[in-house]
Amino acid sequence: MTPELVTVPCLSDNYAYLLHNPGNGETAVVDAPEAGPIAAELRRRGWNADLILITHHHDDHIDGVGELRAEFGAKVIGAAADAHRLPKLDQQVSEGDCLRLCGTSAQVLDVSGHTVGHIAYVMPGMAFTADSLMALGCGRVFEGTAPMMWNSLCKLAALPADTLICSGHEYTSANARFALSIEADNEALIARAEDVRRAVAAGIPTVPSKLSLELATNPFLRANLPLMKAKIGMPGAGDAEAFAEIRARKDRF
Ligand code: ZN
Ligand code: FE
Repeated sequence: MTPELVTVPCLSDNYAYLLHNPGNGETAVVDAPEAGPIAAELRRRGWNADLILITHHHDDHIDGVGELRAEFGAKVIGAAADAHRLPKLDQQVSEGDCLRLCGTSAQVLDVSGHTVGHIAYVMPGMAFTADSLMALGCGRVFEGTAPMMWNSLCKLAALPADTLICSGHEYTSANARFALSIEADNEALIARAEDVRRAVAAGIPTVPSKLSLELATNPFLRANLPLMKAKIGMPGAGDAEAFAEIRARKDRF
């Protein structure tokens, strides 16, 4: 069964997600940038936070965990590798682990790069990717290396094309400007940039996004394509090398 999915804007440009199984009422929160808006959404819907799934250790993904745990008695799940720098974990997970929650199953993927120890939760039809794969972008590589991040993106790119990518930030319009600076002639990207402009103007989140759309428009996922390597002046470069160049250009953009 596919649980209900709710996107919760937090802070200035973060997202948390709620997953809810109407069958048994079980609810999971993915990332907790701040408690206020998440608790308000839960109360409004009459849902309890039974679980909190943490993707990585950055403050803008965990600062609300303590308060939500105290108010709702949530059980907190996060990466074993990062247990020393996450809020106290009730369950530690690693790549390959499979969780049963909200009437579905979640596979844990290691998607290190932005941080080392960043994990994604992959369920049938949706993946919680936070600051690894983002809408039209990817997280900045702070702790890992470009090849490590590329490897992580490849794992996500291999999921079914209709997977909803539930990422951690509303960075999409800036990402669209950068993507167009590299692929001004990508028709799918031009159309998406217009959709993003309209959504942002209307105050509508641009996440989640379909993996198929990311594959067609996200420059970071397209680093392996000969046409992309040609566009960045690196014909014949390795995939990770081309990715590193695109990431470096975005860092300077
Ligand atoms: Zn982060
Ligand atoms: Fe973040």
